[in-house]
Amino acid sequence: MDQFVTLNNSVQMPIFGLGVWQSKSGDETENAVRWAIETGYRHIDTAAFYQNETSVGKAIRDSGVSRDDLFVTTKLWNADQGYKTAHQAFERSLSKLGTGYIDLYLIHWPKGELSNQTWKAFEEIYATGKVKAIGVSNFMVSQLTDFLPSCDVTPAVNQVEFHPHLQQPELQEYCKKNKIQLEAWSPIMQGQVTDVEELKQIGNSHNKSPAQIALKWEIQKGIVTIPKSVKQHRIQENADIFDFELSDEEMTAIDNLDQNRRIGPDPLNFNF
Ligand code: NDP
Repeated sequence: MDQFVTLNNSVQMPIFGLGVWQSKSGDETENAVRWAIETGYRHIDTAAFYQNETSVGKAIRDSGVSRDDLFVTTKLWNADQGYKTAHQAFERSLSKLGTGYIDLYLIHWPKGELSNQTWKAFEEIYATGKVKAIGVSNFMVSQLTDFLPSCDVTPAVNQVEFHPHLQQPELQEYCKKNKIQLEAWSPIMQGQVTDVEELKQIGNSHNKSPAQIALKWEIQKGIVTIPKSVKQHRIQENADIFDFELSDEEMTAIDNLDQNRRIGPDPLNFNF
């Protein structure tokens, strides 16, 4: 599980981590993070919006694993976009996490011009060293094209919905060209991968589940992936993917499953 991608500022980011959206604060999140770290996960993805930063931080501090060996992402919520509010939101998240610093801080959703003001604050926070890398989430090609010219620091990461049914080849290409690491949210289609016949078939030949096949496919594509589970056996199952390889034919077969089908909101047309 110690595979990393190198971000555009040389920071090493574990390619595999635990997502905690919809994990309830308190025992549910604390247990999930604890089980994940015991299993060998070293990367946790939370957000101010998930309202579980305090629980994530507690589980991390209780884990006994050295802070430097863990990678923690959190995100600025839409209501906090803007220069001053972004500074305040960062301090709130850092204080709730209690992790001393944050590894990756993301703008959760694009908000046009306002995101440029937010980004100025992100660049200042980055300069203090309280965050090791800054990035964006849910930015499509047109939104990045508008956003990037005013950035002094190029976003290190773009975290977007990505799975076998939504592959966004143009965005993949654009991010690669601009040295922005792509990261997959809903990487197992919120559990729906279990119904995809082709993933079941490929899984049978490796003795792996459809979720494991989807996650392995993402990793072999060099895309960071952060499956969520609050169940110990699934946290273990999702991580048990480092003992096999998908062949070129299997990778292509999964590439061919793209349907441009979203499960979550469309970043070009959302209202929150
Ligand atoms: P995922 O694709 O990770 O799927 C999570 C769902 O699948 C849960 O219902 C979970 O249930 C279930 N599940 C977990 N493992 C398995 C398995 N092996 N087999 C079958 N079902 C399984 O969806 P998410 O939307 O949670 O995305 C992952 C993470 O990405 C989030 O937690 C969050 O950190 C991030 N994210 C970011 C967004 C953004 O806007 N930047 C938007 C959405 C997500 P159970 O817990 O009961 O096991």
